[in-house]
Amino acid sequence: MLELQQITKVYRTGGQEVSALKDINLAFRASEFVSVLGQSGSGKTTLLNIIGGLDQYTAGDLLINGRSTKAFKDRDWDAYRNHTIGFVFQSYNLISHQTALSNVEMALTLSGVSKTERRRRAMEVLRHVGLAEQAHKRPNQMSGGQMQRVAIARALVNNPDILLADEPTGALDSETSVQIMELLKDIAKDRLVIMVTHNPDLAARYSTRIIKVLDGRIVDDSDPYSQQGASGQVAFKKTKMRFWTALALSFNNLLTKKGRTFLTAFAGSIGIIGIALILSLSNGVQDYIDQVQEDTLVAYPLSLKKDDSNSLTSLFSARMEALEGGNDHSQSGDVGVNAALENMLRSETADNDLETFKNYLEKHRKEFEALTKDIHYSYDLSPQIYAADTADGITAVNPSDLAEKLDTNNVMVKTMAANMDVWSEISSDKAMLSSQYQMVAGHLPNSADEVILMVDENNNVNDLVLYSLGLKDAEELNHLSKETADDEQTYAYDDLLGQSFKLVIQSDLFQKENGLWTDKSSDQAYMSDLINKGEDITIVGIVKPQEGTADNASVGGIGYTQALTKHISEAVKDSQIAKEQLADKGTNVFTGQAFSADVTAFSSQNLTDEQRMALAGMTAEELAAYVSQYNQNADATYEDNAKTIGIIDLEDPSSIHFYARSFEDKENLKDLIDDYNRQMKKAGKEAQVISYTDDIALVMSSVTTMINMITYVLVGFVAISLVVSSIMIAIITYISVLERTKEIGILRAMGASKKDVRRIFTAETAIEGAVSGVMGIVITLLLNLPINSIIEQITDAANISVLPVWAGAVLIAVSILLTVLAGVIPSRFAAKKDPVEALHTE
Ligand code: ADP
Ligand code: MG
Repeated sequence: MLELQQITKVYRTGGQEVSALKDINLAFRASEFVSVLGQSGSGKTTLLNIIGGLDQYTAGDLLINGRSTKAFKDRDWDAYRNHTIGFVFQSYNLISHQTALSNVEMALTLSGVSKTERRRRAMEVLRHVGLAEQAHKRPNQMSGGQMQRVAIARALVNNPDILLADEPTGALDSETSVQIMELLKDIAKDRLVIMVTHNPDLAARYSTRIIKVLDGRIVDDSDPYSQQGASGQVAFKKTKMRFWTALALSFNNLLTKKGRTFLTAFAGSIGIIGIALILSLSNGVQDYIDQVQEDTLVAYPLSLKKDDSNSLTSLFSARMEALEGGNDHSQSGDVGVNAALENMLRSETADNDLETFKNYLEKHRKEFEALTKDIHYSYDLSPQIYAADTADGITAVNPSDLAEKLDTNNVMVKTMAANMDVWSEISSDKAMLSSQYQMVAGHLPNSADEVILMVDENNNVNDLVLYSLGLKDAEELNHLSKETADDEQTYAYDDLLGQSFKLVIQSDLFQKENGLWTDKSSDQAYMSDLINKGEDITIVGIVKPQEGTADNASVGGIGYTQALTKHISEAVKDSQIAKEQLADKGTNVFTGQAFSADVTAFSSQNLTDEQRMALAGMTAEELAAYVSQYNQNADATYEDNAKTIGIIDLEDPSSIHFYARSFEDKENLKDLIDDYNRQMKKAGKEAQVISYTDDIALVMSSVTTMINMITYVLVGFVAISLVVSSIMIAIITYISVLERTKEIGILRAMGASKKDVRRIFTAETAIEGAVSGVMGIVITLLLNLPINSIIEQITDAANISVLPVWAGAVLIAVSILLTVLAGVIPSRFAAKKDPVEALHTE
């Protein structure tokens, strides 16, 4: 059944050659108990290892059932060891972190036997060797004899044809040795047992054949056997460890060193925690920004302005160009000029042609309306509003004369007073208004002469508003002292509701005197009269911004509807001065002369007959006043005059505001406008192309870009710690390989292939990686709790740090991948180990 033909084994170590076996010829019967005797170093172990396929012969041939093994591949040897051979060693070679039962099961595990079958067969052989009771003990809880019996059980469990035992009683006392010998003798009844021993007595008592070895040669054979020809082919079932088995094996191993596994996983998880935290935060902040954009910024309209040169985009791009300008003069020996200011002025964009666009918009109104809550046209026309009471002098409410009245050098206050737009046009759409504002008292305007007062969310209104409205006397401001008690003043709703102002039609500020339209706004008597005759404009409601909208622009002021603008515009059109100017757009109504760049001041040559006649009877003083009045608008253009008089063209708004329904619609709206631009470009009407700015989106997108950048940089930094932890895991795996060298040898002796060994270590690193990944994610989720509560305390924003599920999954996968990669080299190293050497390590 087994035959050695001229087997030679030469070891080469450090240039030295040792012939451990020299030209061995031996044949064995299918069932006999052979003892191999010989001095130490005579080659007994080598012989056994070669028979068992654990070591390879240098020359000769080993015939198994008549089949040559010369062409055997690694896989064939593995299968041969697993199915045909059972090994028993002097030092037992049990896997220490596994129970007796698991140790015995191992060989079956390698041959892919099912779990229940494994258990049954393992218990059976344990019973056979008399250890059924000890099945769940670990090797270190057993005596030497018991351990050797476990080893024998393990060797037998696959029901091998050949049992090889290398000094199985070498470490046992004589009584136990006898028991083991009895057991082997029993086993040898139906299979071949080859035992190496030092003990000639035992050999003589129990074995059926004694072979003596000396210096690598057979010197005596008590019962030689010659092969009776080949008994046919044998094929071995290939061993293959299932991945799950490898996983379970590694899991068991890791469980025996829980502390270290935990620490390694924790160290490995630090990189994961770092990245997960950064992702949580940036994801949360991004979500928060998106939310704010959607919830709040929709309230900000997308505005098309006639003059877009002061929008953020234009300013940004102009500034960029200005900064980049300037040629390199460093080599030319002169000083160059970077024309930043000039370029900035030059880059001023041409006016948007909103008239054409409005026309287009009206034609495609349905498309635009589908995306908007409101489309609002605004015009360059501000209502002229005065305080109704003129008894103590005239108070201009809009535009406010507060800045002029203030007797202070405080630039801040002056600028604030001068630039405060207290009166603003609100939407005419009631639904839109109720989405923006919450009614505090009264009702929304129903007609041109009704306005609302806008307060902030705490029902406050800025005192600047009250002063500019004349509700508080501006004179008080000039007599403020530190001693003046600043009692908090409040107003009952009813004091404010019904409060009315006087509207003056802008064109009425001019009166024709001596053939010249004269600005009468500084004539007290004229103005008082005009104001007293003016229409009442009444506060009918108080509103505050709807919760969640951040449109502070119109908080604390007066809101009027477009009806008022239209009313004023019509009244202006009805006025004499407007009629005159509109009748002849080429002539400056203020001077009676044609609009021309050349005529910009009073000249006695350029006068109308009416003016010439009036001048004749004037005193020098009157003449001076006349000339000054004449010069006021002498260098104007038609557009300037229209603005001065208050003429507006309803078809030509100064800006168009789109209030989108949703954030998405805002984007679609931009597409619509871009569509229009494309059409204009196609038609060659470059001048009609609209440039527009979504200032808020611009700011937000730069914030988003910044957050992304910070995230990338931080993730980059933290990734380094991930690499470091991977290297650490590689080192720990390597140490584990060194520690388990013997186990590798045992597994190989039982028929585990190199691939199986690699698999075990890969499984181990995969488990380690999964544990550290999961640990990292769990720790991150826990850390997010305090982080969120801190952020909430500081900023009021809840749940900012949220790890996206996908990120958690990806990070665990990355952790597994990295540790497996880290384990590749150590596990290859493990697989390459020579099984014989591996067995000898302690
Ligand atoms: P035995 O088991 O009879 O004591 P061995 O078979 O272990 O003897 O050793 C036979 C000879 O081969 C010895 O001289 C030993 O030094 C040598 N030898 C065994 N294994 C190796 C090895 N892996 N490398 C080099 N020499 C070895
Ligand atoms: Mg030996």
